[in-house]
Amino acid sequence: MTVRSTPSPKRIKRKDVDNEDRITTLDLIIIHINELVTMDSKYGVPRKGKNMAELAPIHDGAVAISGNSIVFVGKTNELFSTFTPNEKTITIDATNRLVTPGFVDPHTHIIFDGFRENELEMKLAGKTYLEILESGGGILKTVKATRKASLEILIQNGKKILNRMMEYGTTTIETKSGYGLDVENEIKSLLAVKELNLEHPMDVISTFLGAHAVPPEYEGKTDDYVELIISEMIPKVAQEELAEFCDVFCEEGIFSVVQTKKILKAAMKYGLKPQIHIDEIVDTNGALLAAELNAVQTGHMLKSNDEGLRAMKKAQTIATLLPGTPFCLMMRDYAPARKIIEYGIPIALATDLNPNCWTESMQIIIALACYHMKLSPAEALTAATINAACALQKQEHIGSLEVGKKADLIIFDVPNHNFLPYQFGVNLVSKVIKNGNVVVDFD
Ligand SMILES: [Zn+2]
Repeated sequence: MTVRSTPSPKRIKRKDVDNEDRITTLDLIIIHINELVTMDSKYGVPRKGKNMAELAPIHDGAVAISGNSIVFVGKTNELFSTFTPNEKTITIDATNRLVTPGFVDPHTHIIFDGFRENELEMKLAGKTYLEILESGGGILKTVKATRKASLEILIQNGKKILNRMMEYGTTTIETKSGYGLDVENEIKSLLAVKELNLEHPMDVISTFLGAHAVPPEYEGKTDDYVELIISEMIPKVAQEELAEFCDVFCEEGIFSVVQTKKILKAAMKYGLKPQIHIDEIVDTNGALLAAELNAVQTGHMLKSNDEGLRAMKKAQTIATLLPGTPFCLMMRDYAPARKIIEYGIPIALATDLNPNCWTESMQIIIALACYHMKLSPAEALTAATINAACALQKQEHIGSLEVGKKADLIIFDVPNHNFLPYQFGVNLVSKVIKNGNVVVDFD
């Protein structure tokens, strides 16, 4: 990955304005874009129902950037009729190329140590999740390794993942703790998130997921562990300002609806915003619970029932679908995306990157969403950008290419958005611009 320093500010004068006060400082322009997908707000924020498919792309488009903000979006000839480029302005010609907002990956688990690559052969041999756990694998293997790892190791691991995510076009992610499962190691995990956000060009939003699994020392005593989360972990996380969201893995045999509600209500009292993993394996009425708690987003939703979906629509909760997970678990069923769209619930997409389902690529997730959940390429792109920004409540700053928003965008070496799922499994990125800087350059 090529990481470049911030270009020094250059100035472009408006042709019709000589007044020094009204000179706009422009640093970078992208011109002659074959297909410019802006995801602008005219189709709603977030986009729902039919509006998820309304791309209205601009042909021969242009984007102009000043500092870390977008100052012009439109046709190339409009840009040149409004501004006269200075010879020092960086100009990128995007003939035959696609430009979109940077991907937002709103649900990941990148803070861990150790690998579980050997488990695929076990899964293929027909071993169940429980059998893998009993042979020392599964989530508890990751918990063991993560507890042993130093803060520095977790940061190093995270950086590798963030670099690759950025190479594949992602410019903002959310990530969670959840492989520490005790006070010390959950805090260590969140400190790693904080450090990654400071050190890496990626914007990294933090979620506390102490309720990811029941740690081995609390086996058979889930209520006691819930008490530890509520009485010690949440107050400490809030006091040290280590997370913006709180998440719970609500699933049969893990955390019940009652326990989930207890944890999230406690978290909300401390100012953490709620989100939930729901209805992945069994329908536990998770969608209804998400609506009741006004959760910002929910993950999975393979089994959510109609009553829950109706309630989620009313609560304006975003459905973040994670097709990488059923793919890696070799499940036949995926989340019923078409039905969720028909209900008018906005869909976001995320990688769910974790040691059991490891991909940094939102391009792969877009392909899986199209081939397995029957989203159109346009709907999948909407779900990976503006709707994903809404899933993190960051839509005012990111997720679309509009004047005043952060200059986070991707230049793809393909002519249009249909290529994103069509030419799958490879990286179609040509350049990634983050905060106005070219941070990835494959040209
Ligand atoms: Zn997850």
